[in-house]
Amino acid sequence: MLTNDQLSQWDRENFFHPSTHLAQHARGETPTRVITGGEGVFIEDRDGNRLLDAFAGLYCVNVGYGRTEIQEAIAAQAKELAYYHAYVGHGTEASITLSKMVLDRAPKNMSKVYFGLGGSDANETNIKLVWYYNNILGRPEKKKILSRWRGYHGSGLMTGSLTGLEVFHKKFDLPLPMVKHTIAPDYFRREDRSQSEAQFVAHCVSELEALIEREGPDTIAAFIGEPVLGTGGLVPPPAGYWEAIQTVLKKHDILMIADEVVTGFGRLGTMFGSDHYGIESDIITIAKGLTSAYAPLSGSIISDKVWKVLEQGTDENGAIGHGWTYSAHPIGAAAGVANLKLIDSMGLVENAGTMGSYFREAMRDAVGDHAHVGDVRGEGMLCAVELVEDKTDRAFYDPSKKIGPQLAAALLKRKVIGRAMPQADIIGFAPPLCLSKSEADTVVAAMAEAVREVLG
Ligand code: PMP
Repeated sequence: MLTNDQLSQWDRENFFHPSTHLAQHARGETPTRVITGGEGVFIEDRDGNRLLDAFAGLYCVNVGYGRTEIQEAIAAQAKELAYYHAYVGHGTEASITLSKMVLDRAPKNMSKVYFGLGGSDANETNIKLVWYYNNILGRPEKKKILSRWRGYHGSGLMTGSLTGLEVFHKKFDLPLPMVKHTIAPDYFRREDRSQSEAQFVAHCVSELEALIEREGPDTIAAFIGEPVLGTGGLVPPPAGYWEAIQTVLKKHDILMIADEVVTGFGRLGTMFGSDHYGIESDIITIAKGLTSAYAPLSGSIISDKVWKVLEQGTDENGAIGHGWTYSAHPIGAAAGVANLKLIDSMGLVENAGTMGSYFREAMRDAVGDHAHVGDVRGEGMLCAVELVEDKTDRAFYDPSKKIGPQLAAALLKRKVIGRAMPQADIIGFAPPLCLSKSEADTVVAAMAEAVREVLG
């Protein structure tokens, strides 16, 4: 077995890590963390630490670690047939079964599912399909995509453009010009503090209307949004937001893409965020919770309305010019089937709702009154704690103080993983959906201590 020193050296010399400070890591100033195992909500590293992963990897290991049902399904599929493609009508029992299981769980207006590998490529597919759709309908000008500041939709060229976080744009020459952003529905951070929730929703709507007017409704194809803003800070929308936004979109014949990479398959305590907020989506993006990350798999769920048009797109001899080698990969599909069965048999959608509420309330009780905790919020099994330098004017800390990362480090010292979100000083929690009461209490107690240690 390799020594830790050897692994660290090879890591520094060879491994280009995502979302990592490249120069510092290459110089060995940030640690190499080698994760070796996991069970339930816990992971283990090579130094023998057992950590409570209250962010479920990257909010994806929804059923928890080490589930033999999924491991065995993957092993059986690998043994039977590790790969065959899905082009020209090919499939496996796993991929066809999974397509039915996804549609059985999806909102009723959904018709078909296209499988990809990750959330970014699924959103890439979605935008291509939206363009294809408008070309078939003879509307070649209707192509721009609306997104929101602080939305997260991936980090490819198009999807990184849809993402509304500066760090994903800066020095990459993004966003692309056909993507336009509107304001984030963050009531806590509203500019005009005198606004009621309803007034703030009206403000979000008027900002969207103004953007559509400026760009021209005939040039806008779709709006993409996460039911609850995720990486941008775990921000549930104010009451009535989605209803009001959809009214505007319908008026201008703009398609609605619900990016449910985080919210799909139970995280909000409902199977989909679209159900949770009454969003009538034209396309739904799924990934993470589809396989609980046991194997890479994503999907684009297409509504009847869009499908009926797409079907007209191929001429007699032609097939749709879109597909990945690994679309509907059998191993991912086998993982997906086993995962969705487990979500049902373990009652995880329900637990996400009830335990998620318990966890958030306990967090609010423990740290909500602290002088530097501005907001404790979330929905289902999502909880964010937003820190402020001054509670009265909600002033941000100076970013150079790195309060978020300091808090995440203080949590880690207590063997709990929370995530310093890229936006301001927000600590996010998105535990596996199987979180128990005592595990929730452990996270809350660690956070209370970490807040006292870092913020006094
Ligand atoms: N959409 C959302 C809402 C996400 O949270 C993410 C990933 N965090 C993505 C898309 C991109 O998924 P991936 O990293 O698998 O490409």
